[in-house]
Amino acid sequence: MTRRKGLVIAMDGPAGVGKSTVGGLVAKSLGYKFINTGEMYRALTWKALEDGLDLNDNEAVLLLAKSLDWEFKPVDDAGTTLKTFINGTGVTQQIREERVSVNSSLVAGNPGVRRFLSKLQRDLGEGGSIVMEGRDITTNVFPDADVKIYLDASPEERADRRYRQLKAAGQEADRDKILAAILKRDLNDLKREINPLKQAPDALVIDSTKLTMHQVADKILRRIRKGAKANGRGK
Ligand code: C5P
Repeated sequence: MTRRKGLVIAMDGPAGVGKSTVGGLVAKSLGYKFINTGEMYRALTWKALEDGLDLNDNEAVLLLAKSLDWEFKPVDDAGTTLKTFINGTGVTQQIREERVSVNSSLVAGNPGVRRFLSKLQRDLGEGGSIVMEGRDITTNVFPDADVKIYLDASPEERADRRYRQLKAAGQEADRDKILAAILKRDLNDLKREINPLKQAPDALVIDSTKLTMHQVADKILRRIRKGAKANGRGK
């Protein structure tokens, strides 16, 4: 196994809870890389839809995953956030399409795909100095992560945040529809047979319902510094 240069910080939580914002802030502050693993499931979903595959055909979708050239490259100036590229193409815009959001839970329930993407994620993180977020990072991908965070917030608060985001961007938004979509995604994530969303027993659970993203990031950074001191790794 590669010797880790820095910490592996694993973060899980339900959809729309702010994992990417918080993860990006924590990674930037530590000079680490940040990766949102949901992008990988979305990228594969997008490509399978483009290719006209039946998403219920687990074998065909797994074959597609294995046939692609996967790369994770920073696109921001700071070089913090790694974005997913498949066959040389960045897919940041495409993977946010509604058809991808709706169908990605089918792909995320494919056992072979989960094994394949979990391996990619371990390869990416095994050198350390990384913040990785998703649904099964603390429980399946890096059960031995140095720091484990479970970020939570009420469905109503998550729906309100999304509603405000869309409104601020000048887009149409229906709060009830947003809440219904969040509840459906929660159900898919919690009830999935393989690697469902759950709290690791040793995770620091943070309820962000009444906190800003900066306050959540500060809590995590304080915990990391405390842990580093206890391990004799403090600066
Ligand atoms: O985080 P996001 O909502 O973009 O994730 C896209 C899809 O990938 C969702 O269906 C989610 O459940 C799934 N996912 C997963 N495991 C992860 C990250 C995301 O099953 N580690």
